[in-house]
Amino acid sequence: MNRDKNLIKLCKTDVWDLLVIGGGATGLGAALEGASRGMKVLLIDKFDFAKGTSSRSTKLVHGGVRYLRNGDFKLVRKALKERHTLKKIAPHIVRNRDFIIPIYSWLDFFIYGIGLKLYDLIAGKWSFGPTLFLNQKKTSLALPGIIQKGLKGGIQYQDGQFDDARFAISLAKTIEEQGGVCINYMEFLSLLGGANKAEGIIAKDTLNDQSFSIRSTHIINATGVFGNPILEEVKSHIKIRTSRGTHIVLDRAFLPSNTALMVPKTTDGRVLFVIPWRNHVIIGTTDIETENISFEPGKSQSDIDFLLANARDYLTKQPTLKDIKSIFSGLRPLVSTSNKNTKHLSRDHILLQSENGLLHILGGKWTTYRLMGEEAIDKILAHKPHDFSKSKTRQLRLNGYHESPNVDDPLHMYGNQNKIIESLGTNISLSQDIFLSEGMIIYAIQYEMALTLEDILARRSRVLFLNAKEAVRLAPIVVEIMGKHLQKDKKWEKEQRDFFILLASNYYL
Ligand SMILES: Cc1cc2nc3c(=O)[nH]c(=O)nc-3n(C[C@H](O)[C@H](O)[C@H](O)COP(=O)(O)OP(=O)(O)OC[C@H]3O[C@@H](n4cnc5c(N)ncnc54)[C@H](O)[C@@H]3O)c2cc1C
Repeated sequence: MNRDKNLIKLCKTDVWDLLVIGGGATGLGAALEGASRGMKVLLIDKFDFAKGTSSRSTKLVHGGVRYLRNGDFKLVRKALKERHTLKKIAPHIVRNRDFIIPIYSWLDFFIYGIGLKLYDLIAGKWSFGPTLFLNQKKTSLALPGIIQKGLKGGIQYQDGQFDDARFAISLAKTIEEQGGVCINYMEFLSLLGGANKAEGIIAKDTLNDQSFSIRSTHIINATGVFGNPILEEVKSHIKIRTSRGTHIVLDRAFLPSNTALMVPKTTDGRVLFVIPWRNHVIIGTTDIETENISFEPGKSQSDIDFLLANARDYLTKQPTLKDIKSIFSGLRPLVSTSNKNTKHLSRDHILLQSENGLLHILGGKWTTYRLMGEEAIDKILAHKPHDFSKSKTRQLRLNGYHESPNVDDPLHMYGNQNKIIESLGTNISLSQDIFLSEGMIIYAIQYEMALTLEDILARRSRVLFLNAKEAVRLAPIVVEIMGKHLQKDKKWEKEQRDFFILLASNYYL
């Protein structure tokens, strides 16, 4: 992926078949669907790919056990089918994870046992493995950090786990393999065309402060929680409501296991996960309605206190504030036509076509991004089904595809690309805590359109999300390597470093 070359393509193209605004899961999914069917596709993002919610998820590729409680069986079924597809097209990024619900009351054994057997039943042929009832001894062995007092056993089930930002980058690269064009740091400003027909947009290259008029036959708004201004521009009656979900990251010593812990009911009725991620564990998430729609949602003390308190109910090694290595929050876009509490709003998506032809994809989950894209392009092409081919994304392997990655290799998420990385620079980690090599940095610049220090430390590698203070320590080292390869001067390096250090302060206490 090369941004300069893509800007030239942008200038040379009079009219695109499809323009997608927003480079999160939703936009990337729609753009890949369009490009793989033969459409001339451009995707733009105001910041970087997956800068928004799509790098801040709980990292589950799942049907959503908790949606069973709301009776959302259709959504669970759709998501379980997609879970299977995602593992098939990107086995280098999506993997199976064992989860256990520890049981402290026989009634819970019964209730959650039925729920998880139902989850299995709904998964049918797309199952990742059967639900098992474990006795007390097997549960303690699988979850060594768990509180033993009163423990009766556990219910083990299987789900999927992935690295959201790495998946997004793999999607962007696949879009380009299919002939599409992706440009980051390109902001949508306004629509072109009258009230009756959206013919294009005005966009600004925020790195060079240059404006472009971009014309396209079809336009998709995939800006997630940030989409209300576009919805207002087309005078939609539907609004996106926003709920904040916070995660904290701790050392793996708090749950020294490959099995994740699932708490189906916390003190306020929400679900809580403690999930191994690299050599760390993620604890999350909260679900608090918020009006504060920010690209950096920051940290909320009450969310952190809630997560720590509930984790302490289950973990023998009791986490405290000083154990937190990173805090990250994401904003859920939930489509609302009622005053329901956000916890009870469906995670399903909707497609909304405004009178001027703009198609908005609203709501949804990471797990269902592909299906959302397929449905969106089907809708766009409904009147000309023969102009472009049928959907093939259920079979289309994503960039880096590797059938049997070695999950102990820190580069396994790059799949078949890791030989290139090793050839570009030294393969020695710059950090003792998280693997980040010079080769990964150069690869991110040359092959993944990484343009800022934040792109590398937050999304191409996940250092900021795993250990924010370590990211700050690495910033001067990484920016120097970047400066050399991007041919930037010391002033640029200093600006990048200063900006990143300020941003990173949102991720630690
Ligand atoms: C805390 C939390 C945990 C979650 N966990 C999971 C999970 O484990 N599994 C799962 O399946 N789902 C999960 N989800 C849901 C999932 O993460 C989201 O549904 C999904 O990431 C939303 O993607 P999106 O592309 O719609 O939005 P975003 O990722 O926010 O993307 C929108 C993009 O639009 C861009 N943009 C905004 N304004 C403009 C503009 N003017 N011009 C150009 N670009 C613009 C932004 O920069 C951004 O990149 C979770 C959500 C949250 C909040």
